[in-house]
Amino acid sequence: MGIWKRELIIFLLLFSVVCLIGLLTDKFTQLLLALMLFSLLRHLYQINRFEKWLRTGGQSSYPKTTGVWEEIYYHVYRIKKNNKRRKKKLGKMVDQFRQSTEALPDAAVVLNANDEIEWANKAALDVLGLKRSDKGQRIPNLIRFPEFIQYLKSKQYDEPVILPSPLNNEIMLAVRITNYGAGLRLLLAQDVTQLKQMERMRKDFVANVSHELRTPLTVIKGYLETLEDMDDGMSPLLTTSVKNMQGQAERMQHLIEDLLLLAHLETKSKKHEIINIPELLTQICHENEAALEIGRIELTLDSDAMLIGEEHELRSAFTNLLGNALKYSPDDTPVKIRWYQTENRLLLDVIDEGEGIATTDVARITERFYRVETKRVKKINGTGLGLAIVKHVLMRHDAQLIIRSEWSKGSCFQCAFPLKRLATKY
Ligand code: ADP
Repeated sequence: MGIWKRELIIFLLLFSVVCLIGLLTDKFTQLLLALMLFSLLRHLYQINRFEKWLRTGGQSSYPKTTGVWEEIYYHVYRIKKNNKRRKKKLGKMVDQFRQSTEALPDAAVVLNANDEIEWANKAALDVLGLKRSDKGQRIPNLIRFPEFIQYLKSKQYDEPVILPSPLNNEIMLAVRITNYGAGLRLLLAQDVTQLKQMERMRKDFVANVSHELRTPLTVIKGYLETLEDMDDGMSPLLTTSVKNMQGQAERMQHLIEDLLLLAHLETKSKKHEIINIPELLTQICHENEAALEIGRIELTLDSDAMLIGEEHELRSAFTNLLGNALKYSPDDTPVKIRWYQTENRLLLDVIDEGEGIATTDVARITERFYRVETKRVKKINGTGLGLAIVKHVLMRHDAQLIIRSEWSKGSCFQCAFPLKRLATKY
């Protein structure tokens, strides 16, 4: 039987007794009042005990009682016990999490929406030079590198920012921020000194080797020219051999030049000069005399905007794009070049009606030495470094290379410069 039913039956029994005695003694109202008062006092007493038990934490086992009150005590006691168990489990989990983050070799810092430090692990103290007492401090006041402050403000956290450690500028850190929760951010700083050193060694090696290969190649080319001059055409084998060797030497020279340019792009500081883009594009088009003469190149200058950047770099990027468009499309199709400005960007489109690029290759063609393997009628020479150079140059100009292409329909290579690169006219 339910506890409430029992409680009700007891009350009804008492009520019936009161009714019976009331009828017999003619004191029904007084007896009913007494019964009500008794019930009220009994519950008030229980409420008081219950409140006292809760006030003292309800820790120990609950007081002895009967009926519905025993049930209430039992349920509250059980809920409290479960909560206690859950709290203990949660505490253990938090402890484990704390221990694991303390053991992390990478610095981890939790920042709130105001860039204030909420929490930091031990490595953050060793790597970033933070102190335990820095909790609540704004991180830009503690890590003052302009690149870091700009990164923090930008809210663009896709790529990490590389900084020297505030404690030792020989240690290089890759700092990455991740948004999580309501306005919280996790800052992770990883020591990448070794990685950066190896990268530098690789760049230096490529640059040195390319540089050193230049002189022997010039000598070989010189001898090949002499051989070509001496060739009287009597030996077809000699003629074709010299021609092939010249072709290969030429290819090698392009490769060396491209590698040196890439090394230059990776290591040299940026220059900021005003470049007359319409003039530069006109020059580049005129350099491709043959294509211009047969009307293949259609240059449209819808803007006279000039850019801030390095002319030598942009010249090679644009030359590469135009060269590719001409190389990878049939001789009787046009190549359109358009320079124009939109609301928020300066754009250069190089459009061809050539073989196009398969979607799977589009993502990879800017990688070094990546060349699309297709069964072309004529073999097209190249180093596979052209688009890597274009991408790098554009990156150094805060610009993007957008490639749209459809297999066998043609391609559009778009260079998108931000308006901050626009040179105000003088
Ligand atoms: P390269 O032209 O020297 O091979 P690039 O880095 O300039 O090297 O280009 C990489 C590859 O991308 C090329 O081998 C070619 O397959 C493809 N590609 C580049 N531009 C075009 C284009 N306009 N149309 C079709 N394919 C292209």
